[in-house]
Amino acid sequence: LPDRLPGLLAERALRHPQAPALRENGRDIGYGELWQTVRETAAQLAALGVRPGDRVAVVGENALAQVCLVFAAGLCDAWIVCVNARLAPREVDGILDHCSARVAFYTDDVSPEAAAHGARHGAAHVAGPALVGNWLAGPLNHAARPEPVYADGARQCAALLYTSGTTGRPKGVMLSHRSLLYVAAVSATLRRLVPGDRACGVLPLSHVYGLASVLLGTLHAGACLHLVPRFTPAGLLGMLRNDGITILQGVPALYARLLDAAGGPVASTLRFIYAGGSPLTPALKARVEAAFGLPLHNGYGMTETAPTICQTNLDAPRADTSVGQPIPGVDTRIAGGAGEGELWVRGPNVMLGYYRDAAQTAAVLAPDGWLSTGDVARRAADGALFIVGRTRELIVRSGFNVYPLEVETLLNAHPRVAQAAVVGRAAPGGNGDEEVIAFVEPRGAADGALPDALAGWLAGQLAPYKVPARVVVLEALPAGATGKVLKAALRDIAAALDD
Ligand code: ATP
Ligand code: MG
Repeated sequence: LPDRLPGLLAERALRHPQAPALRENGRDIGYGELWQTVRETAAQLAALGVRPGDRVAVVGENALAQVCLVFAAGLCDAWIVCVNARLAPREVDGILDHCSARVAFYTDDVSPEAAAHGARHGAAHVAGPALVGNWLAGPLNHAARPEPVYADGARQCAALLYTSGTTGRPKGVMLSHRSLLYVAAVSATLRRLVPGDRACGVLPLSHVYGLASVLLGTLHAGACLHLVPRFTPAGLLGMLRNDGITILQGVPALYARLLDAAGGPVASTLRFIYAGGSPLTPALKARVEAAFGLPLHNGYGMTETAPTICQTNLDAPRADTSVGQPIPGVDTRIAGGAGEGELWVRGPNVMLGYYRDAAQTAAVLAPDGWLSTGDVARRAADGALFIVGRTRELIVRSGFNVYPLEVETLLNAHPRVAQAAVVGRAAPGGNGDEEVIAFVEPRGAADGALPDALAGWLAGQLAPYKVPARVVVLEALPAGATGKVLKAALRDIAAALDD
């Protein structure tokens, strides 16, 4: 493994300069061209005033400019901070403030949202490398202070990525060059990616799944990544039909929307499809496999582990929704020994810590390197893991444990449910008891009878204490930029419901 992210490109550029690394707007960009552009970008960053240890932000949607900045920041020993342009202004500004970026770039040519964020921050166009054209760059932040720089790629932070904010305010995760390169190598190897592969780059590069597993994994293999600035079901279906794509990595919500649009079998050149990032339900897995005629692989991870912890084996597709075995070199243990409990992880993929938050870091990362995931898991006899839920989402109903995921999985299997999310709230009476509240986004038109119909349907399949006290129909569930349902927002809504 190289010691720094740019090492991934340097070697390929030397040996296979013509091989395509990226495809954007119907044009292939070779490894040689990409490397040259990254070096020009790094020279520009230095000329702009970026110093080693600075944070360089890119508020973006998937684009060549973003990829160049990731590697160029690495060449400058600066940290890249990838921010999804589809976050709200308040969220983007919170991140830019928290990381005190020296300079921020905005991928305005592929994203009106990025352009709007740039305009708010007084960004202006400056000439970039020939291949990129003009950058939209914000003013230099003179108050930014560089962080220490380490020669060792296992200590040097490469990327500062913010979590999805499912359980609360997003946390800034510092990932080393070593962690990201490790996951890139494992992703490429376990997927048996080869230089002829064309991977679909539809997941946001601003999230660790898109950045490490998809982008860096593809480049590690010398394969080509097709950059998709924004997911639309029709756009992706067209791409799968026409562009020779062999690998698709997505999140369950992406597959669900894709299949709704396709309405039947999806013709494609895919050889491998993979879901991760949030729970996969048996119903969706079956639908996807029927539509593509391929097994749907599953993987589990988190921003704090760059992200991959587990994934299913290419040679042994599973009929269940297990997230597979821990990746090589990564240890896992379940708190409390056997059975079900909180999952802990240790390995080269684990983060350096949360930026500017020693207390939160100490709360999850033990001095001996074990990280508490906040997820509850169960290990099957063959070593494969099943994710049961999140510790913070546990609902205690009349002294019994209810994990929302079990109730959500059942609701998601109902034909009239597009998406469901379950939270707890204090039960009336104030004795510390909680009750289960389900939120449902209907598939098709909802009528007033839907909540009772769903509650009745669940009652036929669940122990009484797990059946929601209320089923609330919402036109759309609140979701973050990666499509994950924002549970914290739903908990607030649940707390405010009349008893
Ligand atoms: P925050 O930490 O800000 O609350 P988040 O945990 O959703 O948000 P991410 O790091 O993007 O932010 O997501 C990691 C989490 O996603 C995991 O801890 C786990 O709960 C869930 N997850 C990821 N992959 C899977 C999977 N295959 N099955 C079930 N859950 C998954
Ligand atoms: Mg998390």
